[in-house]
Amino acid sequence: MKVFKWFDLIVLAVFLAAAVLSICFLIKPVGERVEIYKNGELVKSESLSVDFVYQVDSHVTVTVSNKQAFVSYSDCIGQDCVSAGKICKAGEMITCLPNKVIVKISGKGEVDVVTG
Ligand SMILES: [Zn+2]
Repeated sequence: MKVFKWFDLIVLAVFLAAAVLSICFLIKPVGERVEIYKNGELVKSESLSVDFVYQVDSHVTVTVSNKQAFVSYSDCIGQDCVSAGKICKAGEMITCLPNKVIVKISGKGEVDVVTG
Protein backbone atom coordinates (compact mmCIF):
# COMPACT_ATOMS: atom_id res chain seq x y z
CA MET A 1 0.00 0.00 0.00
CA LYS A 2 2.83 2.35 0.90
CA VAL A 3 4.53 1.68 -2.43
CA PHE A 4 1.34 2.55 -4.21
CA LYS A 5 1.14 5.90 -2.47
CA TRP A 6 4.67 6.80 -3.41
CA PHE A 7 3.89 5.91 -6.98
CA ASP A 8 0.79 8.08 -6.88
CA LEU A 9 2.78 10.98 -5.54
CA ILE A 10 5.36 10.70 -8.29
CA VAL A 11 2.67 10.55 -10.95
CA LEU A 12 1.00 13.58 -9.38
CA ALA A 13 4.28 15.49 -9.23
CA VAL A 14 5.07 14.76 -12.87
CA PHE A 15 1.56 15.75 -13.86
CA LEU A 16 1.78 19.01 -11.92
CA ALA A 17 5.18 19.84 -13.38
CA ALA A 18 3.85 19.26 -16.88
CA ALA A 19 0.82 21.42 -16.13
CA VAL A 20 2.94 24.26 -14.79
CA LEU A 21 5.25 24.08 -17.78
CA SER A 22 2.39 24.18 -20.24
CA ILE A 23 0.81 27.14 -18.43
CA CYS A 24 4.12 29.01 -18.55
CA PHE A 25 4.32 28.30 -22.23
CA LEU A 26 0.75 29.44 -22.86
CA ILE A 27 0.99 32.71 -20.98
CA LYS A 28 4.29 33.64 -22.51
CA PRO A 29 3.47 36.95 -24.16
CA VAL A 30 3.30 37.28 -27.90
CA GLY A 31 5.86 39.56 -29.46
CA GLU A 32 4.58 42.46 -31.50
CA ARG A 33 7.49 44.72 -32.19
CA VAL A 34 11.21 44.39 -32.51
CA GLU A 35 13.39 47.11 -31.01
CA ILE A 36 17.04 47.48 -31.85
CA TYR A 37 19.33 49.43 -29.57
CA LYS A 38 22.84 50.65 -30.27
CA ASN A 39 24.85 52.11 -27.40
CA GLY A 40 21.66 52.12 -25.35
CA GLU A 41 19.75 54.20 -27.87
CA LEU A 42 16.76 52.96 -29.79
CA VAL A 43 17.77 53.04 -33.44
CA LYS A 44 15.03 50.92 -34.96
CA SER A 45 11.52 49.93 -33.94
CA GLU A 46 9.46 47.90 -36.34
CA SER A 47 6.53 45.54 -36.32
CA LEU A 48 7.54 41.89 -36.07
CA SER A 49 5.17 41.09 -38.91
CA VAL A 50 7.32 43.10 -41.31
CA ASP A 51 10.26 41.23 -42.79
CA PHE A 52 13.36 43.36 -43.00
CA VAL A 53 17.12 43.34 -42.80
CA TYR A 54 18.63 46.13 -40.76
CA GLN A 55 22.30 46.94 -40.72
CA VAL A 56 22.85 48.46 -37.29
CA ASP A 57 26.38 49.46 -38.26
CA SER A 58 29.28 47.85 -40.07
CA HIS A 59 29.52 45.28 -37.25
CA VAL A 60 26.01 43.94 -36.76
CA THR A 61 23.09 43.09 -39.01
CA VAL A 62 19.68 42.15 -37.65
CA THR A 63 17.15 40.24 -39.70
CA VAL A 64 13.45 39.87 -39.07
CA SER A 65 11.81 37.06 -40.98
CA ASN A 66 8.62 35.13 -40.42
CA LYS A 67 7.91 37.06 -37.18
CA GLN A 68 11.26 36.07 -35.74
CA ALA A 69 14.22 38.34 -35.11
CA PHE A 70 17.84 37.27 -35.10
CA VAL A 71 21.34 38.60 -35.52
CA SER A 72 22.24 37.48 -39.01
CA TYR A 73 25.71 38.97 -38.99
CA SER A 74 28.14 40.10 -36.35
CA ASP A 75 31.89 40.48 -36.38
CA CYS A 76 32.23 40.00 -32.62
CA ILE A 77 34.64 37.34 -31.41
CA GLY A 78 32.28 35.25 -29.32
CA GLN A 79 29.45 35.14 -31.88
CA ASP A 80 27.10 34.65 -28.94
CA CYS A 81 24.54 36.97 -30.47
CA VAL A 82 24.54 35.02 -33.73
CA SER A 83 24.34 31.66 -32.01
CA ALA A 84 21.57 32.97 -29.74
CA GLY A 85 19.22 32.11 -32.56
CA LYS A 86 15.78 33.52 -33.21
CA ILE A 87 13.55 35.34 -30.76
CA CYS A 88 9.85 35.99 -31.12
CA LYS A 89 8.27 36.32 -27.66
CA ALA A 90 7.81 39.61 -25.82
CA GLY A 91 10.59 40.22 -23.34
CA GLU A 92 13.13 38.08 -25.16
CA MET A 93 16.32 39.77 -26.23
CA ILE A 94 19.64 39.18 -27.89
CA THR A 95 22.62 41.14 -26.67
CA CYS A 96 25.91 41.70 -28.42
CA LEU A 97 28.11 43.08 -25.71
CA PRO A 98 31.23 43.79 -27.80
CA ASN A 99 29.22 45.83 -30.29
CA LYS A 100 26.79 47.26 -27.70
CA VAL A 101 23.77 46.12 -29.66
CA ILE A 102 20.53 44.86 -28.13
CA VAL A 103 17.69 43.29 -30.06
CA LYS A 104 14.53 43.18 -28.00
CA ILE A 105 11.01 41.95 -28.58
CA SER A 106 8.17 43.95 -27.09
CA GLY A 107 4.50 43.18 -27.03
CA LYS A 108 1.37 42.56 -25.03
CA GLY A 109 1.74 41.02 -21.62
CA GLU A 110 5.30 42.13 -21.25
CA VAL A 111 6.29 43.00 -17.73
CA ASP A 112 6.79 46.73 -17.78
CA VAL A 113 10.24 47.83 -16.84
CA VAL A 114 10.38 51.43 -15.73
CA THR A 115 13.51 53.10 -16.91
CA GLY A 116 14.65 56.55 -15.89
ZN1 LIG B 1 27.95 39.56 -30.81
